[in-house]
Amino acid sequence: MAGVMGLWSELTDLLLPAECAGCRTSRVPLRYGVCASCVQALEALRPGPVRPTPAPPGLPDCVALGAYDGQLREVLLSYKERGRHGLARPLGHLLAEVVAGSVGRRRPVLLVPVPATASAVRARHGDHLRRLARHTAVRLRQAGWPVEVARPLQALPRPDSASLDSRGRAEAAVSAFRLRPGKRSVLSRSAAERPVIVLDDIVTTGATLAAVAHLLAGAGLPVHSAAVLAATRRRNTG
Ligand SMILES: [Zn+2]
Repeated sequence: MAGVMGLWSELTDLLLPAECAGCRTSRVPLRYGVCASCVQALEALRPGPVRPTPAPPGLPDCVALGAYDGQLREVLLSYKERGRHGLARPLGHLLAEVVAGSVGRRRPVLLVPVPATASAVRARHGDHLRRLARHTAVRLRQAGWPVEVARPLQALPRPDSASLDSRGRAEAAVSAFRLRPGKRSVLSRSAAERPVIVLDDIVTTGATLAAVAHLLAGAGLPVHSAAVLAATRRRNTG
């Protein structure tokens, strides 16, 4: 999308982190923590539709920047698990590409990031998706999109879902979020004329996105689509 591409060329590091967040190479020039060849790989990615199989009921249309591997996976891991918070900006800008790709033409949109649990916020020193969403909105506004970010949902403490099958995961996902008290009327007014795009970093089974879409629809906010950075390739784990 014109106006959003070429984002790294505008970014320069003031501090030099030890190694590239995408390939772990050290002692190379970095821009926002990423080396030139990883920047090139990330900028070459183009958003496209993804659909987990089987897709959970109610899963909205879903657009991802790329597969969860290579540099995209490494940069996401660096951002989420290795404390490289400065990556929020380039990753947020990449997510802006995905939003633009999922909406198609420039128009007002309402972005709803999937909320993090309190324990994830503690472990990662902040809500990593909320931070991303802020940069996504900034980037879209720079490209002339009237964008707002809403956080109508709250994540509830949840059990580890690694051992659950797909049905169990879907059920756990539905009970993992709730609407924040008092948000309903404000939202249905603000969502009247613009598509609602749910933001997440990674889609795996789609259970989280389906659950979030279900809750939002119940609150008068039908979801247009979900925009994510990466889609995992399914293995037989549910
Ligand atoms: Zn690199």
